[in-house]
Amino acid sequence: MGGDRPRVGVLALQGDVREHLHVLGALGADAVPVRRPEELPAIDGLVLPGGESSVIDKLARAFGMQRPLRSAIATGLPVYGTCAGLILLADEIVDGIAGQQTFGGLDVVVRRNAFGSQAESFETHLEVPTLGDPPVHAVFIRAPLVERVGPDAETLATLPDGRVVAVAQGNLLGTSFHPEVTGEKRFHERFLDIVRARLN
Ligand code: GLN
Repeated sequence: MGGDRPRVGVLALQGDVREHLHVLGALGADAVPVRRPEELPAIDGLVLPGGESSVIDKLARAFGMQRPLRSAIATGLPVYGTCAGLILLADEIVDGIAGQQTFGGLDVVVRRNAFGSQAESFETHLEVPTLGDPPVHAVFIRAPLVERVGPDAETLATLPDGRVVAVAQGNLLGTSFHPEVTGEKRFHERFLDIVRARLN
């Protein structure tokens, strides 16, 4: 641990783990893949990658990660979820597979695969007021949408039609899209600010 070079895990059960490790490393974090509960106490923050949320959920339960992660989130571990990771951070999901569970923490309702087959994947430039200019080059891949933002959570970005695609709450951050695949580093930077603030 240490304020200058925080140790940030990427949950490495399935999904685009490598891309996140790369961005976090480039931003000065000691970025490490995390698979087992014993590894949680040694990290200062955790990224939940994109991938398939139902698979990550099942593997997390099989590896005994669900409970320890839930309590780490409840006690303030900073966590950033992208796409499937956002689904896993939602307190409630719509259109999960039968029995699908989440870690929770974000006071939001998230709809899985919300864009349907017509627009399964697309890219756009998103205005994100807290990040300023330039707009974020956002890649959506079978992406979820935030259908309801509860009173404890805050909207960070919407599509031009008002649908919510980025949220924050305390030490938690979630985006429907994948900044890690386009070289967009500002969400990870913001996340590392949260991680460092908690260490100091
Ligand atoms: N559709 C995936 C899910 O349900 C998310 C896709 C992604 O992470 N790119 O988890």
